Amino acid sequence: MSRREILEYIEKYTKPFRVTKGKGFRLADFDPGDTQGLKIDKKQAAELLRRGSAWLAMEQDMLYAQDSWSVLLVFQAMDAAGKDGTIKHVLSGVNPQGCDVFSFKQPSDEELSRDFLWRYAMKVPQRGRIGIFNRSYYEEVLVVRTHQELLKAQKIPPQLVGKNIWEERLADIARFEDYLTRQGVIILKFYLNLSYEEQKRRFMSRLDTPEKNWKFSASDVRERRYWGDYMKAYDEAIRATASKSAPWFVVPADNKWFTRLVVAAAIVEAVEKLDLEYPKVSSEQRKDLAAARRELEQQ
Ligand code: ATP
Ligand code: MG
Repeated sequence: MSRREILEYIEKYTKPFRVTKGKGFRLADFDPGDTQGLKIDKKQAAELLRRGSAWLAMEQDMLYAQDSWSVLLVFQAMDAAGKDGTIKHVLSGVNPQGCDVFSFKQPSDEELSRDFLWRYAMKVPQRGRIGIFNRSYYEEVLVVRTHQELLKAQKIPPQLVGKNIWEERLADIARFEDYLTRQGVIILKFYLNLSYEEQKRRFMSRLDTPEKNWKFSASDVRERRYWGDYMKAYDEAIRATASKSAPWFVVPADNKWFTRLVVAAAIVEAVEKLDLEYPKVSSEQRKDLAAARRELEQQ
């Protein structure tokens, strides 16, 4: 296949899930079990993913050499949707030295004493690097919105907490992403779209399989009570922040092999668009290289 054919093939698996305009967006229009009719076995899926990861590794090497663009990958999902596994598999081929993963958990006291974007802004990837946010500033309009006592802990002056606080936060996030984009940060946001039923199956399997017991958390099961609130919060978050320059991908997550393929495809596609090349050497630098070669040969 030519490069163009490959890119067309890739687009078949990214386009249906890419959201660049928030207007009218509804999570309910996306099927968590979708596989776009792709019928391949586990081995074939693994081989495709391996090729995607290898391609990504190559692009990442050029990204690093260029030292100009950076890539921010945001992963959001309900528990057991497979964020960790997806990150592990898709980025398995990438040089660990050009890549940083940050997992954002409940904020510390120090973090609660700052503006809500502070702790995330500190971890935005440096030029030339890929940064992965395993959960992100979106938690500030998801979990914090669902459990409003978390907002109280943020010590914001009460006059500033009005009924539009969530719309305001979403606007702040959209502006923050615009800002980063204009600084050369390529932002891709992934919502791993797991169904309520499949989450139950995965929790059950964590209970049934001794090697998976450690992953089980009773609080995750309690959090299922708020499923509807979360879906509403996700709907509004995606609606307010989907854009051409910082698209969301609503990735079907009931089949892990498919989730991983779509995520790999979306990243490869975005980085490929940058048309990265290794930095060109100037004639001056070429002279230096030749001199270095002569010196080495004499040693
Ligand atoms: P896993 O369960 O797969 O290990 P996880 O991302 O769910 O991964 P946990 O340690 O289980 O990690 O949970 C982290 C928790 O921190 C989540 O429940 C999340 O909602 C919460 N959290 C993240 N950001 C914030 C925030 N800004 N404010 C409050 N809670 C947050
Ligand atoms: Mg968890």
